[in-house]
Amino acid sequence: MRLHRCAEIGCHELIKLGFDYCDKHYQSRMNSYHDRLKQSQELKSQTLRGQRDKLEYNRNYNETVRPELGHEFYQTKQWERISEYIKQRDMYTSSVDGRVYGKGDLIVDHLVP
Ligand SMILES: [Zn+2]
Repeated sequence: MRLHRCAEIGCHELIKLGFDYCDKHYQSRMNSYHDRLKQSQELKSQTLRGQRDKLEYNRNYNETVRPELGHEFYQTKQWERISEYIKQRDMYTSSVDGRVYGKGDLIVDHLVP
């Protein structure tokens, strides 16, 4: 297997072709990227334009994503059956606090849309 050095100056870690940085430096670069992104979003939200963009984003979210969550899908027999199956499978134990609840007190959620 061909290897090359991490692109970080002073790092002698050998890594596979196709990657630029070793795990450690990749992670630190990603972290600093996310930090800078967060900072710029905070700065942006202080401007009028930033606030307008945020409103725009929220409106878009409310119009497209949110209706899906309160959607008729959750009123279907199919979801009702799945939800009932999951509650029985987990023996009416909440995955949030680990306590046992009555039949109507639990809400089933899903990860995959
Ligand atoms: Zn490195």
